[in-house]
Amino acid sequence: MAKRKAYKTTTIARAKASASKERSARIAKKEKASREAALILKHVLSVGCPTCDAAPGEKCNLATGVPRTKPHRDRRWTAKD
Ligand SMILES: [Zn+2]
Repeated sequence: MAKRKAYKTTTIARAKASASKERSARIAKKEKASREAALILKHVLSVGCPTCDAAPGEKCNLATGVPRTKPHRDRRWTAKD
């Protein structure tokens, strides 16, 4: 009579569950980061820019008048104070 070997296996369901848990943790981390970034941007925009003289609440502008996608570094430093 052959003895049945007991293999320690991870079931597919279990593997899937742990993978999705990992994924949701990663998404939560990402969401937190973007929420913080939005908060920082809001904070940065609450002060004027010393570099391009953008008024509080306005985006930074390039010398050509084209809005920058990101505020000037000096503005971020100013907002920190
Ligand atoms: Zn600026």
